[in-house]
Amino acid sequence: MPNQPVLLIHGGAWAMPDDAVRAHEAGIAEALRVGYAELERGASAVDAVEAAVAAMEDDEIFDAGRGSFLTRDGRVQMDALLMNGENLRAGGVACVERIRNPIRAARLVLKESPHVYFVGVGAERFAMQQGMRLIDNTELIVPRERERLMEFQRAELEGAVDTTFSGPLAEDPTLASHDTVGAVALDVHGHIAAGTSTGGTLSKVPGRVGDSSLIGCGCYADDESAAVSLTGWGEPIMKLVLGKWAVDRVAAGAAPEEAAQAAIDYLYARLGGHGGIILLDRLGRVGLAHNTPRMAWGLRMPEGMEMGVTRV
Ligand code: ASP
Repeated sequence: MPNQPVLLIHGGAWAMPDDAVRAHEAGIAEALRVGYAELERGASAVDAVEAAVAAMEDDEIFDAGRGSFLTRDGRVQMDALLMNGENLRAGGVACVERIRNPIRAARLVLKESPHVYFVGVGAERFAMQQGMRLIDNTELIVPRERERLMEFQRAELEGAVDTTFSGPLAEDPTLASHDTVGAVALDVHGHIAAGTSTGGTLSKVPGRVGDSSLIGCGCYADDESAAVSLTGWGEPIMKLVLGKWAVDRVAAGAAPEEAAQAAIDYLYARLGGHGGIILLDRLGRVGLAHNTPRMAWGLRMPEGMEMGVTRV
């Protein structure tokens, strides 16, 4: 008997302002629709995750694909990872600037390459050799992000930003935004997959890579444990290899709900980090937690759909 498919997605965890909630909800609803349609037609969890993440990359409201935060020098530079829990195949790209949908480039790495990870120009060349059209970086930039960068850099000059990155940026919601997108899915064949895609943090130094595309940090999937995607302040998440930490708790017997909360508690207790996490196991059990003021998420199962922008 086929499994009941499940799709759980997030669209970032941060102090999202009230006027951005509706647009996030609309983006989440569309990604759930597109991703779940894949699962309903019997496609793999990898297909569903790719489709859901690509839909959010295409939506300018999120910090992924077009509409991403800008680097210090005003460019879009993106990272993404896709992982198949059935066979542990994974594909990652980082610091790509000329790819409209980094998650689709990650899919090509997963599918077509014996390697797991490509960065920068090498990643773009690989994608192009696989038939992907390269675009100009300006096609990924939206006016809202030019303004956000200018505001941030003005605040930096005035000394109003913690440039040591020793803590979460500032309490100011426009500065502390984390709009990375991610998805985890269970398909009718009983396999799970995970994907995460991001433009990274606001005004990042070019070449900086966060947790999102690093295997075991912002994303991981293994049928024997769980599928996970994270968002938030990347450096502490990387130091704790938090995605793998969370799925290992599930393998050791914790319910995804407990493991998700434990991971966020650990992130804060150990390094004062802030973020959000989604988790899903092969039994279709889900977990979601965040310690940021808000997190955008959506869940679709045969019984129906739930979504929202939750507060803590
Ligand atoms: N985790 C991402 C990074 O540090 C940012 C985010 O989740 O929005 O690059």
